[in-house]
Amino acid sequence: ATPMSIMTATGRGAQNGVLVKDAEALERLARVDTVVVDKTGTLTIGQPAVSALVPAEGVSQDVLLSIAASLEKASEHPLAEAIVRSAQIRGLPFKEADGFEAIVGQGVRGDVAGETVLLGSRRFLETEGIELRSLIAASEQHQEHGATAVFVADGPKLLGMIAVEDPIKDNAAKAVEALHAAGLKIIMATGDAERTARAVAAKLGIDDVIAGATPADKQTLVNDLHRQNRRVAMAGDGVNDAPALAAADVGIAMGTGADVAVESAGMTLLKGDLEGIVKGRKLAKATVANIK
Ligand code: ADP
Ligand code: MG
Repeated sequence: ATPMSIMTATGRGAQNGVLVKDAEALERLARVDTVVVDKTGTLTIGQPAVSALVPAEGVSQDVLLSIAASLEKASEHPLAEAIVRSAQIRGLPFKEADGFEAIVGQGVRGDVAGETVLLGSRRFLETEGIELRSLIAASEQHQEHGATAVFVADGPKLLGMIAVEDPIKDNAAKAVEALHAAGLKIIMATGDAERTARAVAAKLGIDDVIAGATPADKQTLVNDLHRQNRRVAMAGDGVNDAPALAAADVGIAMGTGADVAVESAGMTLLKGDLEGIVKGRKLAKATVANIK
């Protein structure tokens, strides 16, 4: 591409909230046929709120939330912020917590008032030997609506389940529809559970879902698509998306997300508006056509 046409294109992109790192990123975007998208913070606004508290038998809602929030106070995960905010709104006391440890894509662990508390996905707690049976039906019901189920255990004892819901972005459905119309394949790759992921995907018309994905799984997915000769754009906002963003032909970071995501990506959607992918692609196509 000529320097002039690239400059025009990047200038026009910036007006639309699409920042392009270099000419190569723009050229590669024109040739993309597959878009992998993260869920939390990318398709959803990334500002989840607690939608239900389901304590285990003999536990109160306040105890469940207070212990969960005491531990989540040390976490920067959007789910953690939702749980902390909910406890603050209820005016619940925060207990002393230490030994905090985050297990990326799974949950957190730490000591609250002298007991080891585990908090996170069903898979995480089950792997740690916590019996969740009494709350599975309730958790699945919330997941069917697109909520994330966060389980909490105090020592070996199950405290309960917290449902957290993250609204889908305004323009997400429109962007997915436009990308589909342009003949692109769209795959959701998320660390969240299968049922929640499918519910959100169904609302947006996305048919391919990879759930329970670790950061390495997301990267492997991009590499597998490459092996199938697909040209891949990956859109994501988190630390957990950085390896996949770097592996993709074009990494597309949300300007609203983590710094490492932006650094790993060739493009940034300043306000996280997914329609920027559609606009950026049109611009890229026009620019590449210009120089042929
Ligand atoms: P995504 O790929 O959708 O952005 P993550 O990889 O960040 O999601 O997280 C995957 C799952 O790990 C979450 O859905 C949640 O079940 C669990 N998890 C991770 N960190 C936390 C935390 N701090 N609090 C609660 N759950 C967590
Ligand atoms: Mg995310």
